[in-house]
Amino acid sequence: MEIIKTVAEMQRFAESQRLQGKRISLVPTMGYFHEGHLNLMRLGRKIGDCLVVSIYVNPAQFAPTEDFEAYPRDFERDRALAEGVGVDVIFNPDNREMYPDGYQTYVEVQETTKNLCGVSRPHFFRGVATVCTKLFHSVKPHTAIFGKKDFQQYVTIRQMVRDLNLDIEIVGMEITREPDGLAMSSRNVYLSPEERKSALSLSRSLALAGGLYAQGERNAAVILEKVRGMISTTPYTQIDYAKICDAATIKDVDHIEGETVLALAVWVGKTRLIDNRVFNDKQDITI
Ligand code: AMP
Repeated sequence: MEIIKTVAEMQRFAESQRLQGKRISLVPTMGYFHEGHLNLMRLGRKIGDCLVVSIYVNPAQFAPTEDFEAYPRDFERDRALAEGVGVDVIFNPDNREMYPDGYQTYVEVQETTKNLCGVSRPHFFRGVATVCTKLFHSVKPHTAIFGKKDFQQYVTIRQMVRDLNLDIEIVGMEITREPDGLAMSSRNVYLSPEERKSALSLSRSLALAGGLYAQGERNAAVILEKVRGMISTTPYTQIDYAKICDAATIKDVDHIEGETVLALAVWVGKTRLIDNRVFNDKQDITI
C-alpha cells in the first residue's frame, strides 16, 4: 500500500493506472476508521482494480465553532485497517497542499443544500463540494463511494457530478450500524456511557417511524410528532432537526410518496449525531 501526500504525485499515479486500463475507485474520508468506512472500502475493492482512500479532515467544511481541532485522528491505526481491506493507496494531503496561500475557488450546489444540515451548518456543503471536486481531480476515479449515513451529502455530490458533467459514477452505500442500532460514526467516541445510551433514541425513533410507515401511515407530521416525542423525552438530547424530505431534492414533504428520507440531526450532550431512514414505495412493497 502506498501513502501519497501531494496532488501532483496522486495525479501521476492515477494517470499511470488509467493508461494501464485500470479502473480507479475512491473512498473519500476524514479518517478515524470504523466498520462503516471499511465497508465502503470493501465495495470499492470489488468494483475497481485500484482502490484509493483519501484521509483528509477538511477545514473548509467546519465552522470556527465546530470540532475541527478536536476531530479524532489516528493515522497509524487507519493505515493498518486500510491495508487489511486491500487498499492500494492512501491519499493524505495536508492543508497547505489542498488550500495553499491565495486559495479562492469554491463549489456551491444551490438547492439540495438549502434544508437540513445546510441550515445548521451554512458553510458545510460548500466545503464538502469543494473538497470532493479537488479529490476527484487529484485521484481521477471512475467510481467514488459515499455512505448514505450522510444522505444529504450523497445527494449533493450526485447533483454536483451531474451538473458539472464529471465523468464519475457515484455509488451510495447503506448505513453500517453497531449491533444495538447506533449508526457508526467517528464522532461516537465523544459520547460518555450515559450519552451513548441516549444516542440510541435516533435509531429507535427511525425504527418506530418505519413501523408506522409499514402500517400505512403517510402523513409526515404524524410520523414526525412520534419521532420527536421519543427523542425529546430521552435525557441529554436536543433535536437540531427531524424532517421528512423528498430523497432527490431534499425539500420537505407533507405527504410521503415515492422515495423520501426521514433525516435526523440530534445533539447528544455536546455531540451532534445524524441518522436517517429512506422510505420507498417501490422497495417496501412485499409481493
Ligand atoms: P467521514 O469520514 O465521516 O467523512 O465519512 C467518510 C465516508 O464514510 C462518507 O461517505 C460517509 O457517509 C461514510 N460513512 C460514515 N459513517 C458511515 C456509516 N455508519 N455507514 C455507512 N457509511 C458511513
